[in-house]
Amino acid sequence: MAKETSTLRLMVDRSSSRVVFAESDGHFVDILMSFLTYPLATILRLSNKQSFGALNKLYESVESIESHCLRSEACRSMLLQPVCSAAEECSKLQITNCTLCSYICSNRSCFYENLSLYANHQCPCGEFFDRRVCFSQSTQRSNAGVFVLSSFRFKISDDLVVSQLSMEEITALFGQLGVKQGRNLEAMDVTLTAAVIIELLKRILVSETPLTDVFLGVPKEKSKMQLKMHSTHHNEAQASGSKESYKASVMLILNKKDKKLVFAEADNEFVDLLVSYLTYPMGLVMNKLGGTSGNRCFDNLYKSIESLKSVDCFKGAELMNMLLNPKLPTHLTLEDSFSSSLEHEERFYLSGTRFYMCRTEGCNSYEVSTIGNVSCKGCTKITNKRLKVIEPKDGFMRKSRFVVMDNLVVKPLSSIVFLTDAFKETLSQVEIMNVEIGAEEVC
Ligand SMILES: [Zn+2]
Ligand SMILES: [Zn+2]
Repeated sequence: MAKETSTLRLMVDRSSSRVVFAESDGHFVDILMSFLTYPLATILRLSNKQSFGALNKLYESVESIESHCLRSEACRSMLLQPVCSAAEECSKLQITNCTLCSYICSNRSCFYENLSLYANHQCPCGEFFDRRVCFSQSTQRSNAGVFVLSSFRFKISDDLVVSQLSMEEITALFGQLGVKQGRNLEAMDVTLTAAVIIELLKRILVSETPLTDVFLGVPKEKSKMQLKMHSTHHNEAQASGSKESYKASVMLILNKKDKKLVFAEADNEFVDLLVSYLTYPMGLVMNKLGGTSGNRCFDNLYKSIESLKSVDCFKGAELMNMLLNPKLPTHLTLEDSFSSSLEHEERFYLSGTRFYMCRTEGCNSYEVSTIGNVSCKGCTKITNKRLKVIEPKDGFMRKSRFVVMDNLVVKPLSSIVFLTDAFKETLSQVEIMNVEIGAEEVC
C-alpha cells in the first residue's frame, strides 16, 4: 500500500459533533471522483464486501466456485480483479490504492514473449502467468491534478456534494444545516492516508455522513446500499441492432404457495451476464441508473460532476467522461450479449507503455523494465526483448447449467448438497416456469 499522505481541512460543528464541510484543493476531489472509475468488484474487495447487498453473494460465488465451472482460472482473476480503464489515471493520484501490475510466464525459458493483465492465465507454452511484476509509480504523480485542476478550491459537504468554494455556497450550507452559532465551529486539519481513503470508501457505501464518521469517529446507523440493477434505459440495448436477438433461457423454480422464487436454473451465458456486473465501473452503473443509485453519497458525487462542469475545473472532456460514463475495457465485454452493446474501448492501463525483459539464455532474472536497452541486473547484458500484452477473452463460465438463488448465490447445478438444502421444505410445493431473458431485461 502506498505511504503518501496529504491533509484536508474540515469545518466542524462541535455542538452537534459533525463535519459541516471539508475544504480542499483538487487532489482530494480527484480521489473521491476516482471511486466512480472503480469496477464494482474493486469496491467490494476494498470494502470487505460491506456493500451492494446481493452483489456480495455474487462476488463470493465467484470466489468459491469450482475451477471446472470456469473457462480458466484467469476468468476468476478477471471477475474479482478486473482491470479498470482509468487505472493509469488513478495511479497518478496523490494517494492511491491502485498498483499497476501485470504477470509474466513462470517458465524462464518460455519462447513466447508475452505479458498478461491477469494472474493464472495460461501461456501458450503450457505454464501459467503467475509471476507478478509491478511498476514504479513514484514518478507519475500528477501535481496539476488528475481529473480536476488541483489549483481550484472546493467545498465538500458531509454527504459528498462537491462544489467550487465560495462564501455564497458556505452561507447557504450553514442555513441548510441550521448552523447559527459560529462559536461552536472550529477548523480541523486531518491527515489522509491510503488506509483513511479506504475507510472513507467503506463509510460512503453505508452512511450519509462519511466525513463525520471517519474523521470524528462517530459512525451512525449503518444503512446497507442496495443497487437497483434495473433501469429505464432500455433504448440503448434495443437500438444496437444485431445484439437485440440476445436471449438466455432461464428456468424459474417457484414456490406454489407464495409464488416466491426458490431458485433459477440458467445456462452459462446468463451466469456470464450476471457475474460480468462485477467488472462494471461504478460510474457506468450510475449512468445506467440515471444518476440515482439509492446511495446518497454516490448520487451526490455523480451529480456534482454536472454542476462542476460549468466552472471549467475539469482537465478535459475525456477525463470528465471517464467519470460520467466510464467504459468497459474491450476484453471484459461479452460477445453477443448486452455488454457488447455498451461502449467499450481498447485502452487499458499501461496501454501506451512498452515492456522489456532479458531473454539471454541461462539468465535467471525476471525483471521487467519499461525502458528498452538497459543492462539486465542478472546477467548485465542489454535487456531488449519487447513483451506483448495479452488478455483472456470469450466469457467466464464453461458451457454448463447453473443454479442462481434469489440472493444471487451462484452454484453449479450438479451440487447435490446445495440442491438438497434448497428443496428441504419445498420439494412437493414447487412449480416450474420457463422464461427467456433478452437484452432489455438485463439492462
Ligand atoms: Zn510461457
Ligand atoms: Zn539477463
